Amino acid sequence: MTEIIPHWLQKQADLSPGRLALETPEGTKITFGDLHKAVDIQARKLASLGVLQGSRVAVLSHNSVEMVVLVHALSYIGATLILLNTRLTASEWSFQLQDSEADLLLTAARFEKQAKDTGVALLTIEMLHEQPEKEYTCCTELRLDDVFNIIYTSGTTGNPKGVEHTFGNHWWSAIGSALNLGLSHEDKWLSPLPMFHVGGLSTIFKSAIYGMPLYVTESFDEKIVQTAIIDRGVTIVSVVTVMLQRLLRLQEEDGVTYPEKFRCMLLGGGPAPLHLLEESKARAIPVFQSYGMTETSSQIVTLSPEDSIRKLGSAGKALVPAQLRIMTGTGFAKPEEPGEIQVKGPMITKGYYRNPNATEGAFREGWLATGDVGYTDKDGYLYVLDRRKDLIISGGENIYPAEVEGILTSQPSIKDAAVIGKTDTKWGSVPVAFLVKSADVSVEELQTYCQERLARYKIPKYWHWVDELPRNASNKLMRYKLQQLLDEGSA
Ligand code: ATP
Ligand code: MG
Repeated sequence: MTEIIPHWLQKQADLSPGRLALETPEGTKITFGDLHKAVDIQARKLASLGVLQGSRVAVLSHNSVEMVVLVHALSYIGATLILLNTRLTASEWSFQLQDSEADLLLTAARFEKQAKDTGVALLTIEMLHEQPEKEYTCCTELRLDDVFNIIYTSGTTGNPKGVEHTFGNHWWSAIGSALNLGLSHEDKWLSPLPMFHVGGLSTIFKSAIYGMPLYVTESFDEKIVQTAIIDRGVTIVSVVTVMLQRLLRLQEEDGVTYPEKFRCMLLGGGPAPLHLLEESKARAIPVFQSYGMTETSSQIVTLSPEDSIRKLGSAGKALVPAQLRIMTGTGFAKPEEPGEIQVKGPMITKGYYRNPNATEGAFREGWLATGDVGYTDKDGYLYVLDRRKDLIISGGENIYPAEVEGILTSQPSIKDAAVIGKTDTKWGSVPVAFLVKSADVSVEELQTYCQERLARYKIPKYWHWVDELPRNASNKLMRYKLQQLLDEGSA
């Protein structure tokens, strides 16, 4: 039987109408009561455009209060939301619009020109404001098994897949996070992560479910985030590695520290080099390392505060409603033995939209096979090594690119680094480094630096200097593009 709960935003507007729901750096403040009213009006406008229960509406927007309103309004109507990544090209949008069978594309005005030839009816969010209002049947209840939205994976490995999230996935993700981080009436959450990715999107639901203000910023700007933490009472911030790096640099430049009230820097989305975690520790920044993916509706494994120093570098343990196991080709991995990370829990997607093969390939007896390699230590803490596809096997030894990249970027003259494998007649494969430098440094110096920190077989055999590395909209390395350079012989 499907579980049914009252709509989370309507519930919050009833329980705490005067409590702050949204705040922006420009000074906008909206209570839950007013947010509910704005969402209801937006839903009426959507209804006048013919959007009904079961409609499929794509949204292309940077983070904004309007976007939050729109997301909730589509759930009031019972339409399915398809989130498009603003940094993709028009042809990538077209693919996702066709694949997800979208009926309508709502776009922020700034993307209108680029998005006009995607083959789907288009309206700007600004134009939506001018629509008349029409009565509609408001969904006052949420059926937890119903799919609410589709988000395409970031396509780091090449082929984006439409991950379906149910209301239940978001509900359990919010509950799992709260059981780990705890809830406080003082909380205010800032997510500079895009709302078209699940990390950003999930904070919209957390805000409604917890009755907690969400501090909405258009994109990541370290100055805005720092000011929000120091002067605007933000207590939790979600970040990816590069954002944390930039925040640390700014802290150093400005000579400031964060107030004690700031209780969580939730770090996820990719590997975190140890030196970054150590620097954060030295600056008393409460970093919570986490592991998750689009398919798990954001974090599913998180390092609890009491373990953050003792288990530096670990992504922690599975959240209360979730489970974690490491599998090798022959069965369960032993402690410290690397294998594929598999996870299970109610925040995990039921599958990819119209892609039964990918869905079937992703699950093993109810467990999601993540395609990531990691191990658990004897106490059960997860250490993520890398994606299975990125593993370099050199002379029978496993090399995890993320580890080598972490060492390279800890060298002060190296701004960014990527490591991939190159076919080698003697070793099978050898590591190759692509580097972006911020100051002069020679390959010999780097070799010496690596020799002091890495086993010999892990030290790159070829070195390439580049101006920048191919990263996708979520700032993840697209190693396959570097592989293409190697294959084409242009590197
Ligand atoms: P695609 O599936 O299309 O290749 P993607 O996997 O990059 O895209 P996301 O779902 O945004 O898309 O990213 C999830 C991935 O990010 C994880 O599977 C893992 O590889 C990586 N990741 C997340 N958290 C961590 C972490 N703490 N340490 C290392 N890697 C992480
Ligand atoms: Mg993935």
